[in-house]
Amino acid sequence: MQKKFFLIDIEGVLIDHIESNRVFQDAQHFLDFLRRNKRKFVLLTNTARKSTNFIFQKLRVNGLDIDLNSIINPTIVAIKGVLLKNFRPPIRIFIISEGGHIEDIARFTDIIISYNEPIDAVLLGADREITYAKLNYAFNLILKKKPLIVLGGDMYARAKMYDKELFFLAEGAFAKLLELSTGVKGIYTRKPESIIFETAVEALNAAKEHTIMIGDSIKTDIIGALKFGLDAIFVNRQGKKLDRKTIKSLKEITNGSSKLFMISSLDPRTDLMRIF
Ligand SMILES: [Mg+2]
Repeated sequence: MQKKFFLIDIEGVLIDHIESNRVFQDAQHFLDFLRRNKRKFVLLTNTARKSTNFIFQKLRVNGLDIDLNSIINPTIVAIKGVLLKNFRPPIRIFIISEGGHIEDIARFTDIIISYNEPIDAVLLGADREITYAKLNYAFNLILKKKPLIVLGGDMYARAKMYDKELFFLAEGAFAKLLELSTGVKGIYTRKPESIIFETAVEALNAAKEHTIMIGDSIKTDIIGALKFGLDAIFVNRQGKKLDRKTIKSLKEITNGSSKLFMISSLDPRTDLMRIF
């Protein structure tokens, strides 16, 4: 296999969890190995509530040498894959967010956040202080045929706020409410949706056949990449056994087209050499 371009998941592949400080030891070796061999990569994450800059700082503080612009999250996909492709600047958006998404949007001068019409699109992210006024304004914009772009899609998440750890309703739940009430389907910009893989391949200026996805989630990274027509590497650090149903569905997707590999670590001296 001669792949030139790599899409790399972050949580579970490079770092244990984005709120933790546990970067996997083999991660930096692997990124160095890619650079030495002139391979290009982007990092693909579904973490949207925290900005790309937060993730960049987190990885950097823990010793991973990466570029801020190499991180692609659902907000970046909404911007590059939907907004910049479909609207002329200045693009005016209404956004529901508690901050992280706004940090990302602020990096793009063609996009303006507005609370008055004209508005081109509604962006919906996690916001634990969401109000009726915001939801109802989004509802009215969607009724006027403005697209609903969902930055993520989880129904709920466990998180800490004001020192209390609780389950919080997330953007996916509010997206369902808006979809049901308007009859309009939202555009989801996270893995396993094709749009995130397409945005990543375009960011690398790559051809699909020269690109491979590396991830630890069958449901999002692997199935998403295979369905989009990419080969994929499943990083199985815990040596989990895949159940029959999963194997069957993976076989159906890969049938005759994309290839799937499995490795137990990113150490370039071991498993990976089988693939390179
Ligand atoms: Mg992961």
